[in-house]
Amino acid sequence: MTSRSRLPISFGASFRCAPTATTARGRLIGLFVVLALTLSANGAPVPSGGWRAGVARENITPPAGVWMTGYGSRDRPAEGTGQDLWAKVLAISDPSGRRAVLVTLDLCGIPREFSDAVANAVSDSHGLPRSAVMVNVSHTHCSPFLRGYLNGLRVLPPEAVARSDDYALTLRTAVTRAARAALDALQPAALAWGEDEAHFGFNRRENPEKDVAALRAAGQLKGPVDPRVPVLAVRTASGELAALLVSYACHNTTLSYFQWHGDYAGSAQRELERRHPGATVLFASGCGGDINPGPRRQVALAEQYGRDLADAADRALARPLQGIDGTLGTAFADLPLRFARVPTAAEREAARTSGEPARVAWAAAVSRDLAEKGEAILDYGYPVQAWRLGSLAWLALGGEVVVDYALRFRVEEGRSLWVFGYSNDVMAYIPSERVLREGRYEGDTSMLPYGRPSPWVPGIEEKVVQAARATLREAERAAAAPR
Ligand SMILES: [Zn+2]
Repeated sequence: MTSRSRLPISFGASFRCAPTATTARGRLIGLFVVLALTLSANGAPVPSGGWRAGVARENITPPAGVWMTGYGSRDRPAEGTGQDLWAKVLAISDPSGRRAVLVTLDLCGIPREFSDAVANAVSDSHGLPRSAVMVNVSHTHCSPFLRGYLNGLRVLPPEAVARSDDYALTLRTAVTRAARAALDALQPAALAWGEDEAHFGFNRRENPEKDVAALRAAGQLKGPVDPRVPVLAVRTASGELAALLVSYACHNTTLSYFQWHGDYAGSAQRELERRHPGATVLFASGCGGDINPGPRRQVALAEQYGRDLADAADRALARPLQGIDGTLGTAFADLPLRFARVPTAAEREAARTSGEPARVAWAAAVSRDLAEKGEAILDYGYPVQAWRLGSLAWLALGGEVVVDYALRFRVEEGRSLWVFGYSNDVMAYIPSERVLREGRYEGDTSMLPYGRPSPWVPGIEEKVVQAARATLREAERAAAAPR
């Protein structure tokens, strides 16, 4: 990984030469007067509100031979690289100098320890609080096994775990390096947001995959989806697109072959970086826990969905965007959640001797956790994070959050709230009350590959929603607090 890592990049020359506006209030006001009246050649607003931004990236593609994750069919290591995997970081700073970093990773999932380790390192070097470091994964299933994520998928040979642990160390170093580089590259910037829609995701609980193409053609797909494609555009002093964040709520599971690949989200980033030379394009997963792309399983389809997403982002960019001014506020909470029950010794023994790799791995994971923690394995500290960016708000929830949450927050909080799942810790599916009651994979049996003792206790949706509201309000207060 290290040998192929690109050096952290910063914005283009014109951006680096832009005047800074960090200290004297008079200079800040002067800058505002000059720049607020300025439009770039393409009509986009240029920096005016004292915000700054920086980007960096690292190639995190593992070597062939590291084991993959995501599917129970991962019975051997990766055989090569179909598309490089990337860690990308967008650092931002508001007019008062409050900073935050968004880390996006072309990975399937991460344990909480990983995002905390990166946040701690950034805190040590740059003084950011935990709430100001947000880590989101794209959920590509053509990515490496990491200890602590999907522990119940398969029992790996010890040498496979050792190789993965080696990779995890270099990954952590690379992501930390990128986060620090992005913070060190902060330059005056104009931030603005908008949205469009993409429609390659479908509700996988409500539609048989083999029928998806026909149902879509007939307009007969069933079940809730969230077609929104929110975009955040970061422009330089000369109006060039320096960074673009794109989000979509859909499993990144077009592909299942034994090559590293970013799937549709990786293809969308590549396509948008091709269309916008010099821009760093980041992808953040929305609440797509029960949404799949379809049809699947061909590289050409991953590329097609990548283009669909890129087209949606470009349509959003072509319309007037809403500028971000105001200030930044961040908040982070650990919500106590609980699994319903400890499996009996008989249940674990039946799984251990079943001969089914996933059940064997689940029994091993749960038995190990039980031996370490006893009944405390039922308690889980669930990460809920919120950022306020002027008029825009971001909510970053851990786990594979189903689409009901995004749709509910849209009604309750409006379009200026974006909801990300797969953030900071991917520990299990996060079903809505409806999905928990219905059970099936996202509400029940997915706890097996996740190595968890049982489904969540009822009441999870209301707990998550209440904690999210409280964290959003805390981020608002933090944004409004004098510095
Ligand atoms: Zn998933």
